[in-house]
Amino acid sequence: MAKSVVIVGGGTAGWMTASYLKAAFGERLAVTLVESRNVPTIGVGEASFSTIRHFFSYLGLQETDWMPDCHATYKLAIRYDNWRAEGHHFYHPFERPRVVEGVSLADWWLHKRPSEDYDRDCSVIAALCDAKRSPRRLGGALLAPELGAQDPVSMSRSTMAEQNTQFPYAYQFDATLLARLLTGYGTDRGVRHVLDDVVDTAVDERGHITHVRTKESGDLAGDLFIDCTGFRGMLLNKTLGVPFISYQDTLPNDSAVALRVPMEMADQGMGPYTRASAQAAGWIWTIPLHGRVGTGYVYASDYCTPEEAERTLRGYWGPAADDLTANHIRMRIGRSENSWVNNCVAIGLSSGFVEPLESTGIFFIQNAIEQLVKHFPGGPNDEQLRRSYNRQVANVMDGVREFLVLHYVAAKRNDNDYWRDAKTRTMPDALGARIEQWQAKLPDQDTIFPYYHGFEPYSYTAMILGLGGLDVRPLPGLAMMDDVAAEKELRLVRDQAKSLVETLPSHWDYIAHLNDRK
Ligand code: FAD
Repeated sequence: MAKSVVIVGGGTAGWMTASYLKAAFGERLAVTLVESRNVPTIGVGEASFSTIRHFFSYLGLQETDWMPDCHATYKLAIRYDNWRAEGHHFYHPFERPRVVEGVSLADWWLHKRPSEDYDRDCSVIAALCDAKRSPRRLGGALLAPELGAQDPVSMSRSTMAEQNTQFPYAYQFDATLLARLLTGYGTDRGVRHVLDDVVDTAVDERGHITHVRTKESGDLAGDLFIDCTGFRGMLLNKTLGVPFISYQDTLPNDSAVALRVPMEMADQGMGPYTRASAQAAGWIWTIPLHGRVGTGYVYASDYCTPEEAERTLRGYWGPAADDLTANHIRMRIGRSENSWVNNCVAIGLSSGFVEPLESTGIFFIQNAIEQLVKHFPGGPNDEQLRRSYNRQVANVMDGVREFLVLHYVAAKRNDNDYWRDAKTRTMPDALGARIEQWQAKLPDQDTIFPYYHGFEPYSYTAMILGLGGLDVRPLPGLAMMDDVAAEKELRLVRDQAKSLVETLPSHWDYIAHLNDRK
């Protein structure tokens, strides 16, 4: 039975893993985390998935326990600016379309085309985003139970697998502060914290790691080693030689330049969303946190130099970015062939990464640690457990890759080589056939990537109808059906959105209130 774990790396991945393992196994598992004082963490990674709430609930942390410390805000959607045309925007909300007469409201919308804006017509969240509303009332109640969103009855531990109904929001937070908060959480529960550089790794004749050697703290031995060393992949890729499968042929964005822009948002308000604004060679993210904005330009180095990218980013922010230091990052896009080999599991950037367009980095980490707990070794079937883990983790990343490639193929924007090439570049194997299928019938569970990868058919639909570059056709059968109920539902969406916009507090007011209560 693996009873002692050594985690190398103290970024978001390292500390999320350490605290989760302690929450799962308590004193029955010894956890040591070693992190370098000299190698910095990646320093970005601020937007998350709505399933992240299960991570906090597993640790027994309420929003008031961690959000103020991590400068956290709410994220109801991703707002896509200029992906269809200059000046256009749409949302990918955390909201499933309703079903009317057994057919998705998205299909009814395509049939009726009440406007050009699928998101405004079929989602309440789009209106809340435009109006910069909070998903909670000042007393804490969640927007509206009639929309199907409910807080859990108790703070019992839950995992992503239990999120059957779509929860309406995720969080945006400072990932460095989260790692700091989890350092306290983990060490309070017995994680041994070593601040030192790992300088060597010893491997036995079976290819199992026996210990890592540190500069000043001696050797750290364990049964299981978790590689959270970021893009270096120090244990899995470097020491054990596990190959890395690049996604670069299908997703060419390989670089980013980031800024932290201090900002008081009391006057202008705070959008409850992450913004992805299309640019000449990629896109700029904008993530509002309490007290600052996290922003960066993700671009393809084949189309843009680092200097051009930094100039574009600074131009986007104007004087607010003067005197701020830019952080240039080279991204390793793809995944390790297997994230778990022998007694070494890579979690975080060392396992794999795709550009942060749909905020999947921390989701990959959460998925990996939930799966690690479920597949934890120590019996006669370890080989099968490892195989099952590797399959699940690889499927998640491969599925997300398909979803991201769709963003570029389906974007109507077509004004330079970067955007034109995106339409003709190699696609992951089955995506071309799937797109043809979706043009005839919007995505459903049977026609998207067939394994769990965090995205449901509704996300594909929101992107296809928002991006506007694919010729999607309505279902012919709807022309022969009575549309009274669909009309009524479209009116209801509008009325509910109006009423919520009028009664919910602003996002800024809620976040300020949460921080005042601290
Ligand atoms: P790192 O942060 O790189 O940490 C590596 C750790 O290993 C450090 O503690 C370092 O000290 C330690 N280490 C390295 N070598 C040694 C050694 N020899 N000895 C001891 N310790 C060592 N994710 C999201 O979910 N949402 C986002 O919006 C998002 N945006 C992103 C934007 C960009 C441009 C990039 C590149 C990533 C983004 N991510 C995002 C991903 C997210 O940043 C990462 O998934 C997350 O921060 C985890 O990083 P990590 O812990 O794996 O690696």
